[in-house]
Amino acid sequence: MVHSKLLFFILGGVDFEEDEEYLQFRFRLLYILMWNGLFFTVAFLLAEGLGVVRLGAIHLGVTQAYFVIASGLLYWMWGHKERFLPVAWVFAMLGNVQFLSALLFVPHDELRVVWFFLQISGVYIILGQWPGFWNTVGSVVAIHMANPYLVVPFSTHALATLTLSLGASGVVFHAYCSRSISFYERMVESNALMRRLSTLDPLTGLMNARAYYALADRLIRLSVRNETPFAVLFIDLDHFKSINDRFGHEAGDTVLKETSACLSRLIRQSDALGRIGGEEFSMFLSNIDQEEAVRLAEKLRRDIEDLMPQIGETRLKITASIGVAMNRSHQMTFAEIQGQADQAMYRAKAGGRNRVTCFEGAVTE
Ligand code: GH3
Ligand code: MG
Ligand code: MG
Repeated sequence: MVHSKLLFFILGGVDFEEDEEYLQFRFRLLYILMWNGLFFTVAFLLAEGLGVVRLGAIHLGVTQAYFVIASGLLYWMWGHKERFLPVAWVFAMLGNVQFLSALLFVPHDELRVVWFFLQISGVYIILGQWPGFWNTVGSVVAIHMANPYLVVPFSTHALATLTLSLGASGVVFHAYCSRSISFYERMVESNALMRRLSTLDPLTGLMNARAYYALADRLIRLSVRNETPFAVLFIDLDHFKSINDRFGHEAGDTVLKETSACLSRLIRQSDALGRIGGEEFSMFLSNIDQEEAVRLAEKLRRDIEDLMPQIGETRLKITASIGVAMNRSHQMTFAEIQGQADQAMYRAKAGGRNRVTCFEGAVTE
């Protein structure tokens, strides 16, 4: 837990939405690259201070500037995922300046061009295929143009090897990016499908019980925090089994679909509606008092009665019994209030069906 909090802090301090997985991946990776860049810059500066390496006056200045700018970028992006792109571009440019400066001004280090390979992989992964491609081309051109001015220029063979190996790295990362983006797109699609399948009831398109309970739980916490009253309606169709028995299961399904559409029409953005059993529905109503909740339940009852779905040649009258429960204390859990709405609904059944009953006793019909 502490470990993941620390990582969250180090890797940007931002939460991402479910559909931002690709951005999250690149954002977090950019953080790692920036910390990495700072760490090695400090290591080089320390080594220079201790006399272990010789950066030379110009490259020392460039490295110090790199440290200041990269730290500033890291600070500026912390907590702001929308700043990802400008930071990524500036950081990529900064890297190129740093490595070009090493190439030009640290002539005694024969292996300094290897940093260009690191740069290519980073730009491909963070900024994508085309920035990666142009960065590779730019690196090759820069090395060729700088070569005549180096104290010890690379031989023609070394330049050829550098060009080919940078090109080959570019091809590998180009292919990697295109494959990983298409993999990511397929993953996003299948995640969305799985989410739909696991949260929606296939017959009515309403939320299934599990998704509904989870949402109702969140809405309760929100209502408790805002100290607003809320209500739960338990809606059960009357004598539904006899519809199946008389007209067949398909007719029963039609009735369920039409009832669901009718219920959906009446809910507000802040409410939730779920099919929690065969012919049982539950509705969570945010920020509503008892009088208004009963009025809405009564409207639902009448609308269901007026629905008269067409089954074969006939139009069928269907009715529902509705139980209403209000939150009484802020400590109530959803299971408790749903249980009360259920009890109220059973009293509506016992009282003759096709009616609205409150947990406290008020009845309308
Ligand atoms: P009551 O008025 O007491 O609520 O009686 P009821 O017949 O509505 O209640 P009961 O619980 O006895 O019957 C519910 C029926 O709902 C039984 C089951 O066959 C039917 N059912 C459950 N799920 C579906 C479904 O997906 N489609 C159809 N057509 N019927 C279903
Ligand atoms: Mg029923
Ligand atoms: Mg039932």
